[in-house]
Amino acid sequence: MIKDKEYQVAIVGGGMVGATIACLLAEQEVQVALIDAGDPMASWPKKTYDLRVSALTLASINLFKSLGVWGSIEALGEQAVQKMFVWDHFGSGELDIDSADAGEMQMGSVVENRITVLALWEKLQQIKSCDVFTSVQLEGFEAGDDGVTISLSGGTTIAAALLVGADGSNSKIRQISSIDDYGWDYKQKALVATVRPEKPHQNTAWQRFLPEGPLALLPLRDGLISIVWTSTTETTEANLKLDETSFCDALAEASEQQLGNFKLLGARGAFPLKLQFSPEYTQQRMVLIGDAIHTIHPLAGQGANLGLKDAIALAEVVLQAHEKGRDIASQQVLRRYERQRKGDNLLMMGLMDGFKRLFGADDMLVQFARSSGMGVVNSSTLIKNQICKYAMGL
Ligand SMILES: Cc1cc2nc3c(=O)[nH]c(=O)nc-3n(C[C@H](O)[C@H](O)[C@H](O)COP(=O)(O)OP(=O)(O)OC[C@H]3O[C@@H](n4cnc5c(N)ncnc54)[C@H](O)[C@@H]3O)c2cc1C
Repeated sequence: MIKDKEYQVAIVGGGMVGATIACLLAEQEVQVALIDAGDPMASWPKKTYDLRVSALTLASINLFKSLGVWGSIEALGEQAVQKMFVWDHFGSGELDIDSADAGEMQMGSVVENRITVLALWEKLQQIKSCDVFTSVQLEGFEAGDDGVTISLSGGTTIAAALLVGADGSNSKIRQISSIDDYGWDYKQKALVATVRPEKPHQNTAWQRFLPEGPLALLPLRDGLISIVWTSTTETTEANLKLDETSFCDALAEASEQQLGNFKLLGARGAFPLKLQFSPEYTQQRMVLIGDAIHTIHPLAGQGANLGLKDAIALAEVVLQAHEKGRDIASQQVLRRYERQRKGDNLLMMGLMDGFKRLFGADDMLVQFARSSGMGVVNSSTLIKNQICKYAMGL
């Protein structure tokens, strides 16, 4: 088969995770191809906000600083999170955490996904050893002893030593490889929207645990709030259909008017929620990363942060092999990445699933214990500082 071009690493999926590993590798002069079905560099209308936002931990911010893209993200717009306020619909359980108490200026930042991705892609365009392919889909691939041949839409074929699947939770690469995925559907949907609150957000991430799921009010640039409101599929569908005034009234009630009333900006969206993981991260000359191997409940905003840790770990083992002149795609190299990341990924999945069940329980005894437990935690500076450090990803 005639190959149009040869690379050391071909990365399919240029979301936050794929674009990050592309930067990490290409900066060290590894020949990289980054391929995405969309066009992350397409401009968007002014005064609009992306419905997909991520609360990035300090650890993720530090990664973007080391890649030299944090300045662009700041220029495009981000919002520092300094405090967290969590409260329960049942009883008086609440938790307020201030990063200053842990000696830090902020816990993290809330950034629209398209901003992070754009900053990374702009950086990649300046790196000689990286070629970017936009609006192109992976259609298939064949791995052999010497390399992998990747067929793209439009008839292009490229060759690489290693194929990285960063193509998200419905990963085609995972499916073609017949790698199983396990998990369950939460039968919940997260409603996302951008709203202007009546009261200032105080650089605080607000989260109220409601009987059907958590309502998160994340501080966004320009004094706005990005909401992630998890409910049953039926309730979310009903909330999506409400007219603007009724929706804002329902939101004010659900958040106990902590930020007063709201004005809705733009459209609302919804994402079905599932827990999904793959036990196998790699096969011959192919490795999976980010949401392609783990999709978790967004209640603590950790999915992208976990994927970024995958990117760091994979880049590290590949670069080590590259420096030593060894095969960067050998199973010995790729299994080291799998061993490094599997434990952490499974732990976070378990934690998020446990929180979801704990806060979703309607048993009175569990609700009482939960509410009292939050009170105990809230009175302990030591435990709160630990939670804060955890939220920072440190
Ligand atoms: C409501 C909600 C709120 C969230 N909040 C947070 C948060 O606060 N903090 C946090 O850390 N995480 C959060 N997450 C999780 C986070 O959004 C994901 O973990 C993260 O976006 C995964 O990044 P990724 O790059 O692995 O995959 P994706 O972002 O899904 O990117 C995959 C890319 O692959 C491309 N692609 C797919 N198939 C192909 C193909 N065949 N050919 C070419 N390209 C292809 C797609 O175009 C896409 O660009 C949230 C998730 C949800 C649903």
